[in-house]
Amino acid sequence: MTESLRLILGDQLTRSLSALSDLGEDDVVLMVEVGDETSYVRHHPQKIALILSAMRHFAEELRGRGVTVDYVTLDDPDNTHSFGGELARAVKRHDPARVIVTEPGEWRVWEMMGDWESDLDLPVEIRADDRFYCSRDAFAELVEAGKTTRMEYFYREMRRRTGMLMEGDGPVGGDWNFDAENRKALPKGLELPHRMRFRPDETTQQVLELVAARFDNHFGDLEGFGWAVTRDEALRALRHFIKDCLPTFGDYQDAMKAGEDFLFHGVISPYLNIGLLTASEVCEKAAQAWQDGDVPLNAAEGFIRQILGWREFVRGIYWTEMPGYEDSNFLNAKRDLPEMYWGAETRMRCMEECIGTTRRNAYAHHIQRLMVTGNFALLAGVAPRQIERWYLEVYADAFDWVELPNVHGMVMHADGGRLGSKPYAASGSYINRMSDYCGACSYDLKQKTGEDACPFNYLYWNFLIENEEALGDNQRMGLMFANLRKKDKAERDRITGSAKAFLDGGEWP
Ligand SMILES: Cc1cc2nc3c(=O)[nH]c(=O)nc-3n(C[C@H](O)[C@H](O)[C@H](O)COP(=O)(O)OP(=O)(O)OC[C@H]3O[C@@H](n4cnc5c(N)ncnc54)[C@H](O)[C@@H]3O)c2cc1C
Ligand code: SF4
Repeated sequence: MTESLRLILGDQLTRSLSALSDLGEDDVVLMVEVGDETSYVRHHPQKIALILSAMRHFAEELRGRGVTVDYVTLDDPDNTHSFGGELARAVKRHDPARVIVTEPGEWRVWEMMGDWESDLDLPVEIRADDRFYCSRDAFAELVEAGKTTRMEYFYREMRRRTGMLMEGDGPVGGDWNFDAENRKALPKGLELPHRMRFRPDETTQQVLELVAARFDNHFGDLEGFGWAVTRDEALRALRHFIKDCLPTFGDYQDAMKAGEDFLFHGVISPYLNIGLLTASEVCEKAAQAWQDGDVPLNAAEGFIRQILGWREFVRGIYWTEMPGYEDSNFLNAKRDLPEMYWGAETRMRCMEECIGTTRRNAYAHHIQRLMVTGNFALLAGVAPRQIERWYLEVYADAFDWVELPNVHGMVMHADGGRLGSKPYAASGSYINRMSDYCGACSYDLKQKTGEDACPFNYLYWNFLIENEEALGDNQRMGLMFANLRKKDKAERDRITGSAKAFLDGGEWP
């Protein structure tokens, strides 16, 4: 009889996972590739390949350490393709005294887990996921204490609690945040780091063939797959980032450049989210690099804030606001997602670039997601559910707990301001300042309305006009609305007419 059956999910590939602690000789680790998970949305083929290959490598690594692993592949003819079904079959095979799992990253799976004890007629122990700095309970306490109304307050609290980049009771360098230094456009001629890619081994090749055969109708290229699929490879990617990219990460964190998909970014979010790297080791290595004098403080702090601050914050919001977080639609946005998001031709160079890297790499960096594809969806009034689904499908790092708050809250402001105090609405001049996209665009950035004007220009003002009632008294948007109120009726008509013609077709004003 098996003592404990320990189910490990595809985003729980961490040797120190709570469900793997106190592993006994009579225990069995169960890993299952189920169709429900690969198909409940149409994930980018690279995302499916990354997770399946990393799962297979993780299982091999455990076996190499003498652990008994029961692994069910996607093409196993007896596979029931659901967690519940595979768990029930495994219980029959192993007759365990209990089942042990680590809490999942998604509300959908969390709800499923609630039924397992009665379905299986066995004790099911659900352990906390301690790979995060802030547990779900600790975040809920911070909510009660009023310390999560803004990310910045939460982040400072986390700095104090962890001692990360602290000097006594205060932040090192005297400031909590060096963002003012982190908004530079890329200077011409700046040499960019050559990014590390990993050649697929035999296991990955097999997975790539499986994915190509089963998911070839999903959006995204599989060719050029170069993700790390083992912990060793992910650690190499992290070392490469810290040495070659982090020193310049801060300065050009918000920059965009045509044809350059990664710039100085970490490109480590998929590894963090499936467990090949942990948040604490990544932050500690960045802090160490600063202490060793290899990285300036604005870069180390800017990077650590993304993980200790934003990543932990959005997870906390997800678990305290679910279920139901995704149901709100504060700005009453209803438009269908335009076909250009799936690769249909567009004259908008910025959108073409950001959707292009998404298709090629299952990756786009933060500013591309927030200020180009996200900004467009916000300004065009795309239905939150549709744009959320798009982000969940197309990025290798997309898991509900992190994708949903970023899209629903940060980008679409559909939560009415729980996550961010104002929407990140911006016109074409922001994109022009932070990128080289506009020079070669067939739209004219300088024109404000009309058929050849940059669509971001009139969509921005149209967004303010349409949402004046909902957002007009938002103090952080005071200047924007003050400028809107200076526009006379004729100009407003040209703006709304251009937005209508662009979004719905018809006569240009
Ligand atoms: C609309 C939108 C959707 C997003 N969807 C996801 C998603 O599904 N999964 C995901 O991991 N991130 C998501 N993000 C956050 C962020 O864009 C990605 O984490 C980042 O681009 C990953 O690339 P990187 O590893 O090169 O990040 P870097 O720029 O190098 O940043 C370092 C790390 O910080 C963390 N991080 C940075 N910003 C955020 C954030 N806002 N929320 C959570 N973690 C953050 C990530 O773990 C990232 O690896 C989204 C952001 C936006 C605006
Ligand atoms: S001109 Fe407008 S549409 Fe064209 S790249 Fe610039 S911001 Fe994008």
